[in-house]
Amino acid sequence: MGVGIGKHSFSIVCDDTFFELAGIEAGQESQILLDIEMHKKETFITFSFNFNGKIVLPCDRCLDPVDILLTFKNELMVQYSSMIQQLNTEDDDLWTISENEFEIDIFHFVYESILLAIPIKIAHPEDEKTGCNPEIIEKLKEISLSEEAIDPRWETLKNINIENN
Ligand SMILES: [Zn+2]
Repeated sequence: MGVGIGKHSFSIVCDDTFFELAGIEAGQESQILLDIEMHKKETFITFSFNFNGKIVLPCDRCLDPVDILLTFKNELMVQYSSMIQQLNTEDDDLWTISENEFEIDIFHFVYESILLAIPIKIAHPEDEKTGCNPEIIEKLKEISLSEEAIDPRWETLKNINIENN
């Protein structure tokens, strides 16, 4: 990357093209604005990433899309490979690269940062207006009720299993 010594800042929009490349099945309206501040020095580069936007993913409960707002920062320090012997390379936020790997590595870092920022549980907030699709939730309740209705015999079997263990 032909960037001189000093500070540089640029912005990237992570949109559907990005999510597709990253293999993240996000809704069309997903969009994360990424401001990157890069400080290039003789032997290393530091990056400050500022993520701001949303990713749209299916709800764990009702499968309707949920907007997950993502606003966070992340930092990365990259050291050129000629310096490798002097470094402790165990640190995740310290990378060693050759200059031609640059673009791929940033993509990977951005991808991982976003993945880590996505909550494990994706669900609508529990209120009436923005909550889960009520039709689906009703259906799920019906299913679990009808399962319970058949259940007495299964309950007995479950108890036998537990006792045998
Ligand atoms: Zn939901």
